[in-house]
Amino acid sequence: MQAITSIFAPPAADILKESGRTLPHVVIAPSLQGREAALAKQSLPGETLLLVTDETLFPICGERIMQRLGEAYRVMPLVLPPLPRPDMEHVARIRGHAFDAIAAVGSGTVNDLCKYAAFLAHKPYLAFPTAPSMNGYASANASLVENGVRHSAPAATPAAILCDLQMLARAPARLIRAGLGDSLARPTAQADWLLSHLLRETPYDSRPFLLLEPYEASLFSASEALGRGDAEAVETLMKVLLLSGFGMTLAGGSYPASQGEHMIVHHYLTLAEERLDKTREVLHGEAVGVATLTMARIQEKLVKTLPPALSERIRSVMLPASLLHSVLSRAGAPATPAALGWDEALYAHAVETAHATRDRFTFLNLYSSASRTSQALT
Ligand SMILES: [Zn+2]
Repeated sequence: MQAITSIFAPPAADILKESGRTLPHVVIAPSLQGREAALAKQSLPGETLLLVTDETLFPICGERIMQRLGEAYRVMPLVLPPLPRPDMEHVARIRGHAFDAIAAVGSGTVNDLCKYAAFLAHKPYLAFPTAPSMNGYASANASLVENGVRHSAPAATPAAILCDLQMLARAPARLIRAGLGDSLARPTAQADWLLSHLLRETPYDSRPFLLLEPYEASLFSASEALGRGDAEAVETLMKVLLLSGFGMTLAGGSYPASQGEHMIVHHYLTLAEERLDKTREVLHGEAVGVATLTMARIQEKLVKTLPPALSERIRSVMLPASLLHSVLSRAGAPATPAALGWDEALYAHAVETAHATRDRFTFLNLYSSASRTSQALT
């Protein structure tokens, strides 16, 4: 049972301390073993807690956590329907209650809703992650759907993140693989961010990557075990996801974790929605894993066309696309657009045009002009 300053290997502790930011109290324990209330009390004052979860999670873990927290707080449960969307209707439901603090028992959507509602209500919140499925637990932004459009909004960082590894390892394999897919984007995002810095003189910060360095190689080599829900591999994944969230906070935006590969995903989803394609629900991390492979191949090809000094510098942060592919497939995660149930032609179109969707200069810009040039020549 340790706090973040001791749980994360150097240099993470020093980087986080030097940043001068108020960081959540992080506990990663084999099991929280009835210490939920005592741990919550260390970071959350007040008497009334609104515990937000969904119908799937309530019987699995929400009810037990509610009883434990009941030892120290007056706890009101708010149980959302299964697979809730992170929309304003749910934010309003949360805000309709009077509470001193919120406890979020869930993964992506439950946390997005809670961190946004807590931010609006100026109240603290506490996260009990139920799956290592995404890197937003520690970040200061929430991904929300407003008028059918997904966007990112400023939100509260949690006062504490209490991770029960037994519970995380029992999460559905698909959610665990999605967490791996989102973590796969580090090399492609870093290469894009560095490209923009070197060609366009935009700001760049290497600290988020130093945080991840001690864990990434072991995470990627343990991907097969991760696909089986191995506890040690799940612990490494959870650390990478939390540190990725802290990295975004340090960088003042999603730059270190979300570049061209995320633009492809968001653009594809927008195009598919416009065509009213009823595709099967795909998890964010599953889609990001696939788009990361596309991006890594594009970068591998185009980095060679840059001047030698630039090329060498960018290459030093990249990983081979073949390695990233093997990481995903060993985990049993989808590795192609077809495996996601996506339309290949629409995907190819999204890759070619995604550069224009966001004010971020990436290898997608070079890819688009290279393919325009080759079309003009043929
Ligand atoms: Zn992501």
